[in-house]
Formats: sequence, structure tokens, C-alpha cells
Amino acid sequence: MTVDVLIAGAGPNGLMLACELSLGGVRPIVLERLPDNTKENRANGLVGQVVRALDRRGLYERLSGGAEPPRPSPAFVFGALPLELSRLDDNPMYGLAVPQRRVEQVLEERARELGVEILRGHELTGLAQDEDGVTVEIAGPEGPYTLRTRFLVGADGGHSRVRKLCGIGFPGVTRDGSVSIGAHVTVPAELVDAATGGLNVPGYGLIPPFMHHRTDHGLFVYAPFPTGTLVNTTEWNRDGGGDRPPTLDELRESVRRVLGADLPFGPPEGAGPHLLRRLSGGNTRLAERFRDRRVLLAGDAAHVHSAIGGPGLNLGLQDVINLGWKLAAEIRGWAPPGLLDTYETERRPAAERVVMHTQAQSALIAPGPEVTALRVLFTELLRDERTIKHIADMMSGADIRYDLGGDHPLAGRPAPDLTLETETGPVRLAELTRAARPLLLNLTPDAAPAAALDGALEGWRDRVDLVTGKADRDAPAVLLVRPDCYVAWASDSPRLGEKERDALRAALTAAFGAPSGTSSGAGG
Ligand SMILES: Cc1cc2nc3c(=O)[nH]c(=O)nc-3n(C[C@H](O)[C@H](O)[C@H](O)COP(=O)(O)OP(=O)(O)OC[C@H]3O[C@@H](n4cnc5c(N)ncnc54)[C@H](O)[C@@H]3O)c2cc1C
Repeated sequence: MTVDVLIAGAGPNGLMLACELSLGGVRPIVLERLPDNTKENRANGLVGQVVRALDRRGLYERLSGGAEPPRPSPAFVFGALPLELSRLDDNPMYGLAVPQRRVEQVLEERARELGVEILRGHELTGLAQDEDGVTVEIAGPEGPYTLRTRFLVGADGGHSRVRKLCGIGFPGVTRDGSVSIGAHVTVPAELVDAATGGLNVPGYGLIPPFMHHRTDHGLFVYAPFPTGTLVNTTEWNRDGGGDRPPTLDELRESVRRVLGADLPFGPPEGAGPHLLRRLSGGNTRLAERFRDRRVLLAGDAAHVHSAIGGPGLNLGLQDVINLGWKLAAEIRGWAPPGLLDTYETERRPAAERVVMHTQAQSALIAPGPEVTALRVLFTELLRDERTIKHIADMMSGADIRYDLGGDHPLAGRPAPDLTLETETGPVRLAELTRAARPLLLNLTPDAAPAAALDGALEGWRDRVDLVTGKADRDAPAVLLVRPDCYVAWASDSPRLGEKERDALRAALTAAFGAPSGTSSGAGG
């Protein structure tokens, strides 16, 4: 038996990819070396456009536990400098404080609903590729065995075995010298500022919640998450601690050095699981290439960087949303030539940008008077709304524009959040995209364009759905939206003349392959 896609790694990115492939009509198998999903929690939240992307798959509600659509965050930090996002008319920074463990639970639940097989306790140990597929060696609970797959995706984390077995280099830097200690703790209620939720540290002053706070001696974070109150410090040029487990006393001493004051905290209360960890140094690395013939890399297997500002899942989950429909199209036979290679051409620049801004932020939080001077300058620059917007667009990933041709300003950009008034009532675009099918949106109020667009779709109706509705805000007359919710083509003209019709059909061919019924068309 040949599997269509094997995914190595049931971390958030492997699981999300499995969901995306299933929506695209392909049944993947996920291999996970760990027997259960009780590994240490890493991320405390999702930051950026990924929150909208999850909404567009119906996953935001499951993660937030509410029915409300996502709203942008009023404030965030860049390199421990406050970003006043509430000043922006068009704020792209969305956030969702949910632990990574919960993200993985929800994604696993969704993958299983979609029929994905997840094999826990099965470790990929070897691979060999030929023209038709990949033979994968696996160490399972009952011993070693092999599986044959048409494509293999390494979503197996920063130390990716898949990447190493393919001989793909992972150049970058290892930054030594920083030591972070983080723990769930209990802080005395009288130290919590009722107005701001910040922490009044005796002898130091008020520290806002959820913000990196830099002093000349290090970094301090106080984050009262619903799952536990986190206190974290980062210091430079200290002993990394080796394999010695960290202690709360070490954290107390570190707080004293960073703030120059004592924070009287106690051990965490409640059932847990509770965090107590030490991280030394850090890597910033980008895979030389994301693809080696029938093997692709996604998430941390393709890029690692500082966790500052929480960019990891914003990048990784959007990688796999980009990859999923393209790989499904390749397997189902309707992908246009080169579509799968656009995974790397589109996502590498996004990864490079994260590498750049996390390194810039790491520089801005480092100790020393030169850094303090740089921060004064940055603080002045951040009074300008345009700078806030620039940084917010960069951190959230809203400045991404894929090169999809076409001269409309929306081409290659994420589809705008719209609500459509349709024959059956109002519907958010984020609800229409949950099946991950390409959409042709007719946003003109009258029926004539609908007939013309329907005609233009001849040969693609098996792959592309036409939806007619009146948009609740300024929007183009016609939008062609890819399954990853990026705009493949747009037109402001409600009349589909010959030129526009040709341009639309060219965009349909470029994104979704030749029309069925033609010699190169897939026919579904
Ligand atoms: C301390 C810390 C805090 C962070 N905070 C944030 C944050 O707040 N927000 C954010 O967005 N990101 C954060 N990140 C980054 C985020 O945790 C990662 O980007 C994310 O875990 C990457 O997911 P992944 O699926 O690519 O890899 P992983 O989560 O590493 O999952 C890889 C999976 O592959 C499995 N595996 C490995 N090798 C094999 C094999 N040979 N065969 C089978 N299975 C294998 C592993 O067991 C693992 O389950 C943080 C990271 C750290 C370290």
C-alpha cells in the first residue's frame, strides 16, 4: 500500500497540515515518536494573522471557547517596547492566549474528526526516495517496519530527522550567553494592581502584565494567564545551569538581579500542570531549502528563531495552510506545473522576515548602555503611527504579499474580513472558507455578473465554488480566493468584459490548473 502523504511529527504544524490535507481530499498518516501528548508546554499564545487563519477554519471558536469572531489586540510589545496598537485604524495584531498543549489537543481532535490516522509511539528512523515515492523506515511499538508514501513532510521540529536525512543544511547562528528561567508561581493578591492588572513590585514599582520589561540587567515578564501566573527572567553572560533542574529560589535570585528588588512569590496552586524551566542560549536557523523532491519541511523543521513576541506558530501554521491545498492538488492531479514549488517561494520570505525581526528584538532587549540609547531612539520612533503600523504589519505577517501577478492591490494579499449578505442571509467570509475550497466571490448586487462569472468558471466548477453576496464594506466587485484565503485575482469592475474574463481564466489556470475537459485538465 502507498500512502498519499506521511507527516513526521504530531506537533501543532504536523497536525494542522493533516487537517488541511484532509480538507483537500487527501488522507495523510501522521507519525509521532512520543506515545502520548503530554510533552512540555511551550507557547502561551498565538499572535498575528494566524488567529484569523484559524477562524477561517472554524478553529478559533474551539480555542477561545466563545462564539465571537477574533478582535485585534489593543496593545503588544516589540523588543520590550510598548506598541500602542489601539491608535491604528486597521490593526492587524490578533492574539489568543491559549497554551500550545491546548492548541495541539484541538488540532488532534479536528484531525481525527476528519479521519486522519495518528500513529503515536512511531518514530521515523530512515528514508529513501525514488521517482515515484519515498520509502520510510519506522520504529513502532511492535518493532521496525517500512511504509511507502508519495510525499513525506517533515514537521518533526527544530532537530528534524527528516531534514538531516535529506542532507538539507540548517545554517544560522547559535546565540550563547542568555539564560531564561520561567515558572508558574503565586503572587500575593495585594501586589496586583486592580486598575491595570500589573504587578507592584515592592521597592521597584508597577510592571504591566504580559509585557516584556527590560532593565539594564535583564528582562522580566509577569503574565497572569488563566492557566497559571507566569514569572520569567532572562539574563546574559551567566552560567547556563547545565542539566541541573531549575528551582524557584533560582528564579527569586534572578528577579532580584534583574529588578534590583525582591518579589515575594510562592509555589503555584492548583492541579497544574505547572511550568518550571530553564532555557539557555538559542538558535536562529533557516533550512537551505524547504523541499527535496518528494520530501518537504514545515514549521520548526524549516526554521527556528527566538520565541520573543511569540512568532513561531504564526509562521508555522501559516506555512502548512499554504502547503496543504497545494500538496492535495498535486496528489489529486489538478495542480498546475510548479504549484508545489510556490510553497517555498511564498513562505521562505515570511520566514526570513521572522528571523530578521526576532534578531532585531533580541538586540533591543540585550543589556548595556548602547542598547539603552537605541531604545530611547526607538521609543521616539514609535510615537509615529506609521511606525507602529509598519511593525505591527511585520510581526503579524499582514505585510506578506505573494507574487501572484495581476495589478489589483489585493492580489497576493490575505482576503479582507467581509460579511456577505446572501440569498440565505448574512455570512462571514471566514465561515465560507471553512471547507478550504477555492472561492469566486461575486460581490456585486445584481444577478447579471453572477451568470457571467458562472460561465467563466466552466471547467473549474469541480474545484471552485461561486458565491454571490453584497459585501458589508468597500470591496472589489469580484474576488478569487485561494483555499489559504489569499486573493488570487480581483477586479473592481462589475462587468465581466472579454479582457477581464480572459484575465480571470488565466488566474484560475495559474492557481487551480487547467480546466477539466481540456487535454491537460484534471477532470476533478
Ligand atoms: C519556550 C518556548 C516558548 C514559545 N512560545 C511561543 C509562543 O508563545 N507563541 C508561538 O507561536 N510560538 C512559541 N514557541 C514556538 C513554538 O513552540 C514552535 O514554533 C512549535 O512548537 C513548532 O511546532 P512544530 O509542529 O513545527 O514542531 P514541534 O512542536 O517541535 O513538534 C514536532 C513533533 O515531531 C515529533 N518528532 C520528532 N522527531 C520525530 C521522528 N523522527 N518521528 C516521529 N515524530 C518525531 C516530536 O516528538 C514532536 O511532537 C515557543 C517555543 C519555545 C521553545
